[in-house]
Amino acid sequence: MFDCGPATTYKMAQTGLHPLDIDYLFFTHHHFDHDVDYPCFMMTRWDESVGKENPLRAFGPNNTESITERLIGEKGAFAYDINARTNHPLSKSTYELRGGILPRPRMNVMAKDVGPGTVFTGNDFEVTAAPAEHVEPFHDSLAYRLDTSEGSIVFTGDTEPCERIVELARGADALVSMCGNFESVYDSRRPADIGQTGTLGAAEMAAEAGVKELFLVHVGPDLSDPKNRGRGITEIKTVFDGEVTLTDELTTYDWRKHDHSHDDPPHGPAVHPHIHRH
Ligand SMILES: [Zn+2]
Repeated sequence: MFDCGPATTYKMAQTGLHPLDIDYLFFTHHHFDHDVDYPCFMMTRWDESVGKENPLRAFGPNNTESITERLIGEKGAFAYDINARTNHPLSKSTYELRGGILPRPRMNVMAKDVGPGTVFTGNDFEVTAAPAEHVEPFHDSLAYRLDTSEGSIVFTGDTEPCERIVELARGADALVSMCGNFESVYDSRRPADIGQTGTLGAAEMAAEAGVKELFLVHVGPDLSDPKNRGRGITEIKTVFDGEVTLTDELTTYDWRKHDHSHDDPPHGPAVHPHIHRH
């Protein structure tokens, strides 16, 4: 799972996902709209467990370990409830009824602060990070690439368009990019308030990386308004000729549907004015 913003656990339930379906969590950054459901997610996951599950592994830029410790460590905000649920007879019998064997183990979340590079290699997937450019130095931000035998998908997180994310996304099947608004809105505010990606920035990153499909997330109210969506997608298609999807909450999208047998090479380095280069 990438990020854990408001009501993630509730929305997972709405789409039929159980917290114990998720063993790995990757935070792009620690703005609250990307992490505030972390305590709900991990407490629910632990409360539903019977002790045989994999521990949750949480990765993210700096402060991932300290936030975890401050929530569920021995002096953490939820330490009282972890103690209650580990020791009270009511909780112990509920745990046994669910199939657990006493004594109930304390919660085990393996949190790790990470930076650019290979973040984690699993049996059948690998996650790699690149630095994003968002609100440094208050928060460090990462973009992630997930490589699997079924394809590769890149999550920009919150960022302004930047070359390092283009490099991370090179040749991936899908780019999931923040796309907060029409580029004209951001252009009128640059350069003081960059740190976000708009329509053309997302399109330029997707085109330059040579991905097959672009999914727009973190879409603000202007662009997600039904009367504006078509104009946004048209604007993006002037730059990026792959598939474009403006995503909605509580909706499932298949990013693995592309036939790899006759892939085109990535597009050449066209001039894309919104991408921050180093
Ligand atoms: Zn943010």
